[in-house]
Amino acid sequence: MTVSAAGARTPDRTAPAAASAPRAGADQPGHADPAEVAATVAADTAPAPDGAAVLRVEGLGVSYPRRGVRGGEVPVLAGADLELAGGRILGLIGETGSGKTTLARAVVGTAPVTAGRITVEGVRVSGLRGRALREHRRSGRVQYMFQDPLRSLDPDLTVTELVGEPLAVAGVDKRERRARSAEALHRVGLDADALGDRIAAQLSGGQRQRVSLARAIVTRPALLLADEPVSALDASNRNHVLRLLDELRRDLGVAIVVISHDLGSLAGVADRIAVLYRGRLVEQGPTAEVLTRPLHPYTALLTASAPRIDRTGRGPGARTRPAAAGPPAWAVAPGACVFAHRCPFADADCRTQPGSSSHTGQRSAACHHPIRTPSDDWEATS
Ligand code: SF4
Repeated sequence: MTVSAAGARTPDRTAPAAASAPRAGADQPGHADPAEVAATVAADTAPAPDGAAVLRVEGLGVSYPRRGVRGGEVPVLAGADLELAGGRILGLIGETGSGKTTLARAVVGTAPVTAGRITVEGVRVSGLRGRALREHRRSGRVQYMFQDPLRSLDPDLTVTELVGEPLAVAGVDKRERRARSAEALHRVGLDADALGDRIAAQLSGGQRQRVSLARAIVTRPALLLADEPVSALDASNRNHVLRLLDELRRDLGVAIVVISHDLGSLAGVADRIAVLYRGRLVEQGPTAEVLTRPLHPYTALLTASAPRIDRTGRGPGARTRPAAAGPPAWAVAPGACVFAHRCPFADADCRTQPGSSSHTGQRSAACHHPIRTPSDDWEATS
């Protein structure tokens, strides 16, 4: 099922395409037919119409080769559907290994898509390879902001060079690069005259993260994927970077995916929340709805452990019952619900992984027994 972000703003479609290839990862071969890819690129390069989804993910599956096993694969993402319009922020949350970063990497073409499709501004990007993939990356319409700026920023380049690098890749001349780098730095609250000649090691953590952000927006992207953008920052810098993301979507109409394991960071900035657990999107919906009335038991568990959501600690996720016994043996069998081994509601129905189903208020959840009311009685046990 696909849920759309309502009330979309219109991105700045007059901005020229320019920019950079994401720095991470090698090109991964897709599974699309080359002729189909070429036809898609040639025939479908117009920007998405106003209000349409900038990002659309449909039935996405990603698997990595299993080491030492010829033809073996390790699935890390299955059946993921989501949509995001310009000017909206989607918070993607889940614990380590849930598939958050893999989903983002699939969008930028650095994770091997084995099923489904990804479109950005109406252009199919999953399956692109070779020259078509390089051209797509050079366009800079999709940017990825890395988790650790100290590692992802070239230590030998100055701030001006770092921010202008995506433009250099796109062939923008030096003079324009300097001007646009200064503009991008100004937008994130940094002074190009004061900091432009410094290298990353001479910056504070907050300044480095803002340089990463300036580098990501210098190409005027339609879609920004920010991977744990505030996890390494103190409270003051965290709030500053979250405010900047909010301004960028509002002023520039950028569609932003914020990846985080921290519900508190997402609560104040995301329009919608998508929850991942073991490679499955288990719940999606408007932020306030998801956080105050979770449908999926895993989301309820997350909200129960987030002190900013409910100061009493007795929100819907905290009304609980302890599991009477350990999980049934089938709970860890292939094909069972991915959360069955931790879920107090697991029953025979849960021997099969549920698909995502719609609920009121643009919500969806993948659960055979979604939490119906705040009075449902269950207890977080882990
Ligand atoms: S499908 Fe069953 S085991 Fe899975 S989360 Fe829902 S109730 Fe729990």
